[in-house]
Amino acid sequence: MTSKQLEDLVRLWQGRLGLEAWRLHIEVADLDEATYFARAEPTKTGDEARLTFPPWVLGRGQRPSNVLPAFEGEIEATVVHELLHLVLRDLDWAMEMLEGQLHRDLDSVFKTSLNQTTERTIDRLAWALVRSWPRAT
Ligand SMILES: [Zn+2]
Repeated sequence: MTSKQLEDLVRLWQGRLGLEAWRLHIEVADLDEATYFARAEPTKTGDEARLTFPPWVLGRGQRPSNVLPAFEGEIEATVVHELLHLVLRDLDWAMEMLEGQLHRDLDSVFKTSLNQTTERTIDRLAWALVRSWPRAT
């Protein structure tokens, strides 16, 4: 996939998910965690975010050996996954209001559980959405 194809995919799903008003900045750069397909970082104010994809997603450099072998639709599902994080951004803000309000033991368990549940839920939604639209790539 080329950078242009990636950008087109992001813009297509940006519209499909009702994020037209968002300013999205797409970057290709190494991520802290080598096995991640992408990262979405919304700004603290306004509807703006940076989407970062590692070079190997665009076929540059080696795909990390501990990442699953390439499978059909993985980039599109990744794009949808990251954009769904933006759709749920306000929920993250609501959860941040709990910061410092819970006992430290409960806080750690709660955050871990919430993160895992959120990732699984977003993955299911992303794949359901990708399967329900004609394949874009
Ligand atoms: Zn995620």
